[in-house]
Amino acid sequence: MVRRVTIFGATGSIGQSTLDLIGRAPDRYRVVALTGGANVARLAADARRTRAEIAVTAQEDRLDELRDALAGSGIAAAAGPAALLEAAERPADWIMSAIVGAAGLAPGLAALRQGTTLALANKESLVTAGPLLMDTARAHGATVLPVDSEHSAVFQALTGEDPGAVERVIITASGGAFRDWPLEALAGATPEQAACHPNWDMGQRITIDSASMFNKSLELIETKEFFGISPDRIEVLVHPESLVHALVGYRDGGLMAHLGPPDMRHAIGYALNWPERGDVPVERLDLARIGSLTFRPPDEVRWPALRLAREVMQTGGLAGAAFNAAKEIALDGFIARRIGFQRMAGVVEEVLTRLSADGGLGIAPFDLDNVAQMDHLARVRAWEVIAGTDARGT
Ligand code: NDP
Repeated sequence: MVRRVTIFGATGSIGQSTLDLIGRAPDRYRVVALTGGANVARLAADARRTRAEIAVTAQEDRLDELRDALAGSGIAAAAGPAALLEAAERPADWIMSAIVGAAGLAPGLAALRQGTTLALANKESLVTAGPLLMDTARAHGATVLPVDSEHSAVFQALTGEDPGAVERVIITASGGAFRDWPLEALAGATPEQAACHPNWDMGQRITIDSASMFNKSLELIETKEFFGISPDRIEVLVHPESLVHALVGYRDGGLMAHLGPPDMRHAIGYALNWPERGDVPVERLDLARIGSLTFRPPDEVRWPALRLAREVMQTGGLAGAAFNAAKEIALDGFIARRIGFQRMAGVVEEVLTRLSADGGLGIAPFDLDNVAQMDHLARVRAWEVIAGTDARGT
């Protein structure tokens, strides 16, 4: 049976890997919509190659450029947030949510309302509005499949097991670019250095978030929201080789570990073929050659973002939306060299403290407006905090 697929964030790292897999079995898939942002040339080229029905850029002022690039192809062009929602409403059997940031939430919710299968790479949706997202899925009979490698791994380690027998979930972290740097050197770390991941080839923002462990912090919250596991049962383990992605511990003492190469096409392929397993062209691990796997506990002095995530999980409600938004602005500040690497966590903590004093952090994210308001407020506060940071950015 030919499956209708839509890819949000098609021009990004996850989107391109998804297109790679779909392109290997063109007879099995029909592309409905592809969306992108600034990279209109790539979006148009991929839409032509896959004969998509429609291509949408999130940037309203790029519509003419997209139309020109698609001229004569018969592929519809559209732009802006409303067009993204319209694309999410087009009937599709499988939709990839791979926009980066909180912007992925609204199209994800719209996709779920058509009762489809949503492959969720956009972790920010779960962090900012987990209950809203999962409730929407349940209400419309939709399926959400995790694409983040750790969550795909947990999902796979849980398959066929009794959820009531789960004692703990352990997600692993490579430790990112600065894992072995002396603590005192971190103050001088540059965005270029932070954007070099030892194992994974990912977008710039998520790679820097790996070095600061803000990415792992988002994943802690994502684990809680997706699997409904209480925060005290979720652990992080530093695993420099990035081959064991997650482990699930059961009440009989057994630990089910998921291993795979550091290639997102495994998790994407799993979601694409689910509930079956299909051929996915990733490297096969040769454990005899690898020889050893190492693990160590995470250091919360080096990575204060992990402590902040635990506080956010405890608070619940809109704290995740505030955390994610403040983190995005702190990251912007670091990339723009307005603040230093270590100051990012300080900015996020100050924003959470201020918003908590104002009240309203702990209420449940009832709707998109609620979440959007908190997102906006946290961004404003984060810029205020950054503006008050001294010239050395520390
Ligand atoms: P990229 O930055 O590579 O791609 C992001 C995509 O979103 C691009 O298509 C981009 O368009 C589009 N985009 C950017 N801003 C907006 C916006 N405001 N509205 C709509 N579309 C927008 O990110 P990744 O592919 O690395 O990550 C995507 C998501 O998947 C993130 O949530 C990330 O955390 C998650 N993830 C990524 C992993 C990875 O290995 N990369 C692993 C696990 C999860 P354009 O490029 O044209 O501007």
